[in-house]
Amino acid sequence: MPETNRNATSQRIHYCPRCKKTLRRIEGKMGPFWGCTGFPECRTSFNDVGGKPSGDVDEHYRCPLCTRRLVRADKEKGDYWFCSGYSKGCKVTLADIDGVPEAAYQCQKCKHLLVKRNGKNGVFWGCSEYPSCTASYRDKNNRPIF
Ligand SMILES: [Zn+2]
Ligand SMILES: [Zn+2]
Ligand SMILES: [Zn+2]
Repeated sequence: MPETNRNATSQRIHYCPRCKKTLRRIEGKMGPFWGCTGFPECRTSFNDVGGKPSGDVDEHYRCPLCTRRLVRADKEKGDYWFCSGYSKGCKVTLADIDGVPEAAYQCQKCKHLLVKRNGKNGVFWGCSEYPSCTASYRDKNNRPIF
């Protein structure tokens, strides 16, 4: 891009250092932060510093429902992650896979977690609130199709 066009767009695009997708600014409940648009496959996130992603990768993972930080459970308790919003009513827990929380998806209908299930027609994603929420999604490459 020619030097003269440098200020043509006031909003600079920031790229994820891991997967090269764009980052987006998210208004989290704990304040703004930057998350990768490749979420949930890529869980890179940055703290927001003056409207820009900070230089340091935030090594903490975010809750797929409320965007608060996920906290790894004590070793004695088992290999899983739980939401730091637990006392605020977010009961998300995710299994630990090689030090990273398992991929989790949100029900588009009721905003609770989806769970992978085996039905007679194959694998699908059902709502964890079943039977009060009967939303279900077909599976493709281990993720729900919305
Ligand atoms: Zn990424
Ligand atoms: Zn949460
Ligand atoms: Zn649901």
